[in-house]
Amino acid sequence: MRLFTATLATETNTFSPLPTSLASYQESVFLRPGEHPEDAARMCTAPLFVARRRAAGDGFQLIEGSCFAASPAGVTNRRDYETMRDEILGQLRAALPVDGVLLGLHGAMVAFGYDDVEGDILARVRELVGERCVIGIELDPHCHLTRKRVAASDIIVLYKEFPHTDVVERAEDLLDLVLATLRGKIKPVMSVYDCRQIQSYPTTLPLMRGFVDKIKAMEGKDGILSISIVHGFPYADVPELSSRVLVIADADKAKADAVATTLGEELVAMRGKTMPEYLDVEAAIGVALASNAAPVVIAEPADNAGGGAPSDNTDVLRALVANDVKAAAIAPIWDPVAVRLCFDAGDGSSFALRLGGKTGPASGQPFDGQVRVIGLARNCWQSFGPTKVPLGDCAAVRVGGVDVVLISNRTQALGLELFGNLGIDPTQKQLLVLKSTNHFMAAFGPIAKKVLYVDSDAPLSRDYRRVPYRKVTRPIWPLDDDSEPGLIL
Ligand SMILES: [Zn+2]
Repeated sequence: MRLFTATLATETNTFSPLPTSLASYQESVFLRPGEHPEDAARMCTAPLFVARRRAAGDGFQLIEGSCFAASPAGVTNRRDYETMRDEILGQLRAALPVDGVLLGLHGAMVAFGYDDVEGDILARVRELVGERCVIGIELDPHCHLTRKRVAASDIIVLYKEFPHTDVVERAEDLLDLVLATLRGKIKPVMSVYDCRQIQSYPTTLPLMRGFVDKIKAMEGKDGILSISIVHGFPYADVPELSSRVLVIADADKAKADAVATTLGEELVAMRGKTMPEYLDVEAAIGVALASNAAPVVIAEPADNAGGGAPSDNTDVLRALVANDVKAAAIAPIWDPVAVRLCFDAGDGSSFALRLGGKTGPASGQPFDGQVRVIGLARNCWQSFGPTKVPLGDCAAVRVGGVDVVLISNRTQALGLELFGNLGIDPTQKQLLVLKSTNHFMAAFGPIAKKVLYVDSDAPLSRDYRRVPYRKVTRPIWPLDDDSEPGLIL
């Protein structure tokens, strides 16, 4: 039995002012066959990582293709996409015949000229391998589960957790299902219910926590093989943006249809109930300062690099300094130029620094202040579950009572190392401002005494009615009140 695996992944914010090129992939995950590390899965490479570990024991030969992944940002350069795609397709062609294909695709990638990148890849893979080959893919729930992708693949498994702490477990599920199909033990059939809604679904809040626990308990019983909740990625202007429910049943399409419909209707009934409360910046600082337990975390999802935002908006920093807040820290502000200037100035020096506010109108104004350099470190990383996320060279500066963490590799707040690399102990702060939507909860949830969410003037507004969509299929809630949810596949 021969299986081929590869990865091509990013999450595209089509409104982002930062186009994504080959250099963005080279900065993040750019691994040719023979270059994959042994130690851990990196972003969407979990299918390769898991299959490699299990190949001998499960009796198959694994042919490893290239893995390319970039941090979320704007639309990918067309020629660079085609170069990476064709490299993977060339490796697959050379590996033929294969019995199965395992792909780690994020599922929300857009390239210039390609609104549905993963649909394009999967259709081409199917054309190469033929109908009898089993194609299994792992996706992030912040994906667009298009009809084209479902038609071209046999098994699709999404991460269930947000924050995505179960990337490796879901790759195990995917491999289990692909192997069982190849051995003739199951015949997977997929049904998709379209909720016709745009919403965020952190699984750390009670309503979604309960829903995810429920679907996990349903899997492996009564012929239900797998259930995935498609959250959708709200900052992408593509026709099939929508929250959906995917159910895979064993040879029983009617059952898959029925379960997808029941769960889909439940998700529709949760409209407006799955997101945390959002405060304005001044109110959040006031609540944090009034708390007698520390640290209080203020999350700023609107400037989350993980959603394609530049992560250089200075709105919250400005408010912290204006309010003369003490024992606060904010991270990360993406500003490689400011990092360079801090290295040039040297550790311990005080100088006038302009930071942030550079990338686009939604970055706001740059912040100008007299700062003291309190930490410098080269080639840093932070951890997110088993993944080591590179931060590049980092600098910390203190302005008033606020420590500001500046990074060179644009990414969101994920691990405690973001502060620790620079000698800042986040547990000793009264207030931590984190640019992230919910992934920060994996590491910072356990140390936070309270978590607040702000809606700043950064680009990823929580009110989707303010996002300037043109291509999204209407009607869809909350843009329209008359959406018509239903089974689509
Ligand atoms: Zn995601």
